[in-house]
Amino acid sequence: EIVTRFAPSPTGYLHVGGARTAIFSWLLARSQGGKFLLRIEDTDRERSTPEATRAILDGMAWLGLEHDGELVYQSERGHIHNAAVDAMLEAGTAYWCECTPEEVEAMREKARAEGRKPKYDGRCRERGLGPGPGRVVRLKAPLDGVTSYDDMVKGPISVANEEMDDLILRRSDGSPTYNLAVVVDDSDMGVTHVLRGEDHISNTPRQIQIYRALGISAPRFGHVPMILGPDKKKLSKRHGATSVVEYDAQGILPEAMLNYLARLGWSHGDQEIFSREELIRCFSIENLGTSAAVFDMDKLLWLNSHYIKESSPERLADLLPRHFEALSLPVPEREALLRVIPHYQPRAKTLVEFVRNSAFFFVADDALIYDQAAVAKFLTPEARERLAQMRGMLAALPDFGEETVERALGEYVASSGASFKVIAQPLRVAVTGSTQSPGLHQTLAALGREKTLARLDRALK
Ligand code: GLU
Repeated sequence: EIVTRFAPSPTGYLHVGGARTAIFSWLLARSQGGKFLLRIEDTDRERSTPEATRAILDGMAWLGLEHDGELVYQSERGHIHNAAVDAMLEAGTAYWCECTPEEVEAMREKARAEGRKPKYDGRCRERGLGPGPGRVVRLKAPLDGVTSYDDMVKGPISVANEEMDDLILRRSDGSPTYNLAVVVDDSDMGVTHVLRGEDHISNTPRQIQIYRALGISAPRFGHVPMILGPDKKKLSKRHGATSVVEYDAQGILPEAMLNYLARLGWSHGDQEIFSREELIRCFSIENLGTSAAVFDMDKLLWLNSHYIKESSPERLADLLPRHFEALSLPVPEREALLRVIPHYQPRAKTLVEFVRNSAFFFVADDALIYDQAAVAKFLTPEARERLAQMRGMLAALPDFGEETVERALGEYVASSGASFKVIAQPLRVAVTGSTQSPGLHQTLAALGREKTLARLDRALK
């Protein structure tokens, strides 16, 4: 059985790069009927916060990446990590070292000066030291030969063992080091496939040495290339939002984000749109890309419009109120919102854009903001005269459905001799405040008679 995991360090929000790694690990497990585990790597007490853990869990829940099994906190497993170090000391694959950081730095300096790879020179390897203040435990790493593995993404990788230090496994304060903890946890959790960011690639041969020293077989590893900004530099704040929740706040739907990130560095022919089920069905590790992928906001927006179109109006009515609140706009009644949704659903790129463009429907009539340039251009004295006539006509209609309004506007055009174009923009500006809205009769019908007339009155004052 395939067991994968996501092992974020809770030092910030769920970054899109981390989210994508999580998605690939989740897909690898789900596509093979395996398990996807989650471990919070919170051993760095200074930098890890419960808020960050919360934010990561929220981000994963938003994307729908459910994990199997218990949530594991690395910080709670110090005794297990240390027991592994003790076992290695016992087996002679690790040793106590009393060299101070200054001494180690001096060894590195010397190696550099002699044109060798800077590293700890192994002087305590054979001394048979026991525990003592200031002492660390180091891995007795092989001195020659190579450490190799077949990376699931990058193919065969080998590193000469002489390039690698005798890694510290336990610090002088008794705390286990990062690489040791990762190995012990992955092995205890039964992880068979580790997919992680390329920034961890130099840790992998070291971790493999630890697996060997522990006498356990290593999982398979795969390193996913970085995500770049449009300038081909590592994606960062400068390029815009980097945390998954920010995209939620911008009105991106989770299925659009999931689809987008899954396709960023993975492909299945030229198919672009994948439902969650299709991703699981089509995912295969062979199709992960080997080079860095550029984050493309336009493509994310394109996918988002697709999923907004596909959503049920009911779901959009559930999701939109939060965005009205975020923009300090009055939250519409559900019924009113449902009347307007069909007019924006076909074109909105984000839920925020949806709210901005449709906000005029819901503001109080006396709070409607008029685009002054549009008023100056379209609400001419002549146009006002016609608006007054149309007001009378609209007030007298038997009902205010789209068809009735459309027919009445048509009749007005026919009887007044003015073209539809000439009457449409002034009417639109008068009731919406701007020159942009869905079809005029649809807008009036969705607005309703009362608000239409109130706004006409206000514009005509
Ligand atoms: N905790 C590491 C990180 O957040 C990931 C370690 C791993 O996947 O092995 O970068």
